[in-house]
Amino acid sequence: MPVKALLFNIQKFSLHDGPGIRTVVFFKGCPLRCRWCSNPESQEAGLGTVGLGGVTASNRLSADIRYYTVEEVMETCLQDRPFYEESGGGVTLSGGEVLLQAGFATALLDRLGEEKIHRAIETSALAPAAVWQECINHVDLLLIDVKHYDRERHIEGTTVSNEACLANLQTALDRGKNVLPRIPVIPGFNNSLEDAEGFARLFTAMGISKVELLPFHQFGEKKYEDLGIPYPMHGIPQLHREDLTEYRQVLIDRGIDA
Ligand code: SF4
Repeated sequence: MPVKALLFNIQKFSLHDGPGIRTVVFFKGCPLRCRWCSNPESQEAGLGTVGLGGVTASNRLSADIRYYTVEEVMETCLQDRPFYEESGGGVTLSGGEVLLQAGFATALLDRLGEEKIHRAIETSALAPAAVWQECINHVDLLLIDVKHYDRERHIEGTTVSNEACLANLQTALDRGKNVLPRIPVIPGFNNSLEDAEGFARLFTAMGISKVELLPFHQFGEKKYEDLGIPYPMHGIPQLHREDLTEYRQVLIDRGIDA
């Protein structure tokens, strides 16, 4: 019986999920509940969603939500090999949270490695330590979203503590893995200059010298409407690159390339 995973999308020609042109494989299921989540259909670990009609609501958002084998995913990923080679790209596993289906993720990463395709994962790093330590051995680049430096604020925004996430991030750094921490900058949650100072203190203590800022966007709002669930970020203006100039400068002034 081949190992299978529940995915909600496979997106080709992405330019925002690691270097070069990439295929992004979206895993369904996430242990966090971020208020600003732009993929609410990804959160429930089963075929249904948090919204109106379970499978029906899911399928209204994406007909691609189903179980896949490793070879099915590989078939799609291999179609774009020339683009990866031309652009320095590859495949990124994203979600939801990839590590909720770590056995499948590891098997897929191994197959990609056999084909010499660059492998990245986008993750919150929330996983049992043993699962994390195994999975990171099979990845070329870890894109880790650090949502807040403060434990209580992290719980307020995501419903879970940041302790395991930060411990796993530190493990990856200590093991010399290729890690790019990213801050999703969210209005009213972590976008003040004091917050930038807080992140700078955390990253300095962890030995991190480079981060990426991800300005808040409203791309997910329509999905909440389709799912019939309230959107906590309704009416909150998007952030643009220029809105983060001072925020970024705080990090740069503390020696962190942002
Ligand atoms: S970690 Fe990502 S997928 Fe999970 S709830 Fe937060 S934003 Fe959504």
